[in-house]
Parts: sequence; C-alpha cells; structure tokens
Amino acid sequence: MKGNIFIYLSKSGFGMKVVIVGAGVIGLALAGELSRMGIHTEVYDKKKSIAYGAEKASGVLSIDGLNASGLPYSKSILNTLDGAVLYAGSQKLVVKSKTPKAYVIDRARLLQDTLESAESAGAAVTLGRGVSKDELLKIASSGDIVVGADGAISYTASAFGFPGIGEFALTYKATYKHAELIPKDMVELVFSNATPGFFGWTVPYGNGIVEIGVGASTKAKKNSSKAFQEFSKSDVVLAHIANAEKISGYASLIPLSTRSITVKGNVALVGDAAGQVKATTGGGIIFGVACAKILARSIGETISKGTSLEAYEKRWRKAYGHDLKLHALAHAYYSSLNTKNFETLFKLSRLFGLEGFLGKYGDMDSPSKIIRRFFLRR
Ligand SMILES: Cc1cc2nc3c(=O)[nH]c(=O)nc-3n(C[C@H](O)[C@H](O)[C@H](O)COP(=O)(O)OP(=O)(O)OC[C@H]3O[C@@H](n4cnc5c(N)ncnc54)[C@H](O)[C@@H]3O)c2cc1C
Repeated sequence: MKGNIFIYLSKSGFGMKVVIVGAGVIGLALAGELSRMGIHTEVYDKKKSIAYGAEKASGVLSIDGLNASGLPYSKSILNTLDGAVLYAGSQKLVVKSKTPKAYVIDRARLLQDTLESAESAGAAVTLGRGVSKDELLKIASSGDIVVGADGAISYTASAFGFPGIGEFALTYKATYKHAELIPKDMVELVFSNATPGFFGWTVPYGNGIVEIGVGASTKAKKNSSKAFQEFSKSDVVLAHIANAEKISGYASLIPLSTRSITVKGNVALVGDAAGQVKATTGGGIIFGVACAKILARSIGETISKGTSLEAYEKRWRKAYGHDLKLHALAHAYYSSLNTKNFETLFKLSRLFGLEGFLGKYGDMDSPSKIIRRFFLRR
C-alpha cells in the first residue's frame, strides 16, 4: 500500500486528485479503490444522509457477483434466494437451484458499510453538498479528474455534454408488513401488459415483509404508479398482500441502455450515470462495481504514467460490453411480446427443458456464460 502511494505521488501526477460526484454504492466503491491505491479522493453528494433514497431500489444481488465485488455486504443480508418463479398469463416457469444463488440486501446498510470502508481507506466524503456546473468545469480544467457517479439522471453527464441514455424503466416499489411470504426463498417475476417493456416483481425480505415492484419502459409511455395499481390487483400479488399493511412506496427509474461515450478528457462516468445496468432485470450494482474497479486502475495509470483515461472506456466495454449487449438484446426481445406471446414462449421453454437447465447453470449476471454452458453440455 505504501509502495502504491509512492508510485502515484512521485510521477507526473503529483498532487492530482479525483473528485467523485455521487456517494451511491458505485461512487463509494470507487472512492475506496482509489484511496487504497493512495490517490487523493473527494466525494460530494447532495443528499444529507447516506441512506437517503436507498429504499427506492431493490437489493437482489447474485452471491457470486457480491463476492467478486469486494463490497462489505455481510451485515446487509436480509434473505437468501434459491431461484425465481416466472409468470405470464396462465403459464409459469420455476427456476430453482439446489444451492443459494442470491441475497436480498438491505440497501441502506450496504451504503453505510461501503461509506465506512471508503472513509477508513482515506476517502473524504462530504454529504449535503452538490457541486455546481461551474465548479465541475473548473476542477476538470485544472487537470484533476472528475467522475460522475451521480446516478441515472447524471448532472455531471449533462454538465460536460455527454450523450444521453436512450431508454429508462420507470419504477414503483413498495414494501408491506404482515405479508404472506410464499415462496419464501424465491423472487417472482410477472410479465404482462400491465408492465410494458419490463415486469412486475415480488421479493421476500423475511419477517413477514415483502417487496412488490413494477417497471415500465419509457418507450411505452406508461407511468409506474398506474402500472403498480394494475399489478397490485393480480393474483400473484394478492396472494402476498391481501391482509398486509403498506409500509413504504417510492417511484424511481433505471437506465436500460448504456451511454455511447463515458469518457471525455479527464472526466469519466460510472455506474448508473454510464448506464452500466442489466437491461433485462435493472440490476446495476455488480456491473457498476466491476466497472468502477476498471476505472480505478485506469485513473491510477493516468495519474502515474500520464496515459489517457480513454483506456477505461475501452476496457470496460471489452470486459462487460458484450454481456450488457446480450442483456439489451433479451430486453428488446421481451419488450416486443404481449402476454399471449409470453405464454407461448414459456410453453416452449418448458418443452426444451429450460427450467432445469437454468436452475443448474443459470447466471444472473452473465448471459454469455449461460450460452457457453448451453452449448458445452451438448
Ligand atoms: C426499483 C429499483 C430496483 C432495483 N433493483 C436492483 C437490484 O435488485 N439489484 C441491483 O443490482 N440493482 C438494482 N437496481 C439498480 C441499482 O439501484 C443501481 O444500479 C445502483 O444504485 C447504481 O448505483 P450508483 O451509485 O451508480 O447510483 P445511485 O445509487 O443512483 O447513486 C447516485 C448518487 O448520486 C447523488 N447525486 C445525484 N445527483 C447529484 C448531484 N448533482 N450532486 C451530488 N450528488 C448527486 C445521489 O444523491 C446518489 O446518492 C434497482 C433500481 C431501482 C430503481
């Protein structure tokens, strides 16, 4: 560690710092990585408390992805999941693994622990402080590095004129207590006309608490609270919440496509700000953290060797661009289906033994791994 400090401070970048806009999981994970490399890192977030906004999103994360991420998640686990039940009209697919596949994570706790980890590595995190466009332009023109980790509607991206994100899912997510938690270790995904271009879901937290959520693509021009009202009347949801009490409800959004450019000079975008999200499920943490690691390495080289930050753009697209594109293709395909088409697809999937195959070889993050396994088994 001391050796790294020497490398980063002794070459061309003496005194150079990194300013990260956004103390979400990805900004904080990046801040921890950079600080551990001995790079002076400052994080600014307009929210006043670290957990603010955490409840707007779900926390279903693959165990493999979490372990690879290095995130301090062990105290955030609410429940363990073995698989998923998928519904379309009268059809149902059950994808169940013999071993645990994912955890339901308490997002507020994960943020708190990721903040502590970044701060103990030396990052300076300031909450309740946005950074104006003028300040950002000044920091970048002074030669310091600016990172936009400020979420789906990235202020940094607009300040520096990055191209936009083409599609979002508008979401609404609520939690209920005194709920019926069956199945207690599976998520449920419901594909129907109520949630065009996305899906409805249920996630069991344990202790009588269930999460119900919906998304609808911005391309479908349907607002998420209307989609939620329709979804709440479905049999799948009523089975959980007929006698339950609503605790909370939040609207939010998820980027469903990546930005075509994520580096401009010494400014980079990461996480939701870059659109590094699985378009099939809306999961952004595993890919976001993986890209943050690549960004940290590229920043280290920019500071110590004076190389271009463009390396980040090339590396993350090479490492994860293919899988993100496969997620986008699958998303584009299912967006074109109506409930009837889904029913036919489910029937065919059962016929071809997809339930058993995915239960055994399914990978929540990497469709390319699933495809490889599919062809290797033959
Ligand atoms: C309903 C829903 C369900 C989801 N479910 C999952 C899931 O199960 N698994 C999964 O992996 N992912 C899930 N996601 C996606 C996941 O939440 C995101 O991919 C992840 O939070 C991205 O992290 P981030 O740090 O890039 O951005 P964010 O978490 O959005 O953090 C951005 C931070 O930037 C700050 N900020 C914004 N603007 C400014 C500004 N101008 N100045 C300073 N600070 C600013 C914000 O306050 C915020 O703290 C879900 C999202 C939603 C909406």
